[in-house]
Parts: sequence; C-alpha cells; structure tokens
Amino acid sequence: MSYIPKYFTTKELVHPEWYAMKGDRAIEWIPDIALKALDEIRAAIGAACTINDSRGLKNCGLRWYANNPYSKTSRHLQGLAFDLHFYGQDMEKIWHFLYENAWKFGIAVMEDWQVTGRMINKKWIITWIHVELGGILKEGEKPKVVGA
Ligand SMILES: [Zn+2]
Repeated sequence: MSYIPKYFTTKELVHPEWYAMKGDRAIEWIPDIALKALDEIRAAIGAACTINDSRGLKNCGLRWYANNPYSKTSRHLQGLAFDLHFYGQDMEKIWHFLYENAWKFGIAVMEDWQVTGRMINKKWIITWIHVELGGILKEGEKPKVVGA
C-alpha cells in the first residue's frame, strides 16, 4: 500500500499512459519518499501546486517509459522528479525558498531557474520548478543545481 498524497491525485502525478494501464495503482510506481515530500512542499508553500493537468501537461511527473522524446536517464522516469507550477505565485521566490530549505524536503537536485522560464515583457518568468526528490541532505545543505 502506497502513501496516499493529501494534495495530489494519481492522475496529476503520472503520465496518462500509466493511468490507462494501472489506474490509481499507478501511484505505486512513485516512491513514498517522493510522495511525502510533494505533500510537505505543497503544505509549506501554502498555495495550489500543479504538476500534470488535463490541459496538456503530462510529462511533469512520472513519465511513460516508451516513445518519449525526453532524456532516457531522467529521474522523471523513476518517479523521483517533478515539475512544479504555482500559478499566480512568485515563482522566483518559491525557487529560492526550496533551494534554501531543500534539506527539509529531501530535494537532491533542482534545475537552474534560469533554464525553466522565459522572457515575458522584459521580465524573466519561471514557468516550472524541477525538483528531484529522495535525497538525504544534512541540515542546511544545498541541492545540486543543474542546467536543463
Ligand atoms: Zn522536470
């Protein structure tokens, strides 16, 4: 029996192909340590968090293992990487909050905020925050920051 997240449904966390094959049991392919961390992050931010949605986002959680054009070594394929969208929130502030507090959530790796955004009206807007969960960090330790 898998940990059942308080804030996220299985559909939000897995690619539709996973859901079609396993239904709600697809969540069992995501390690509990990641599911718990997502709930803790969502609770700490205190604002709605979108991962996948029904409007086109489907590769932001556990990706389908076949026919995907993305990295074959991505932790999205292991249910350990998630792309977080906090619509209407200051994403740069949230990025830095997660970076500073990564050790509390077990965030081992984050993608640089400068590669997961775009320029809108001459202002850099972070579109999503990529986190890799399941890390064991010492108090105050910072995550590894990588380019896309
Ligand atoms: Zn990602």
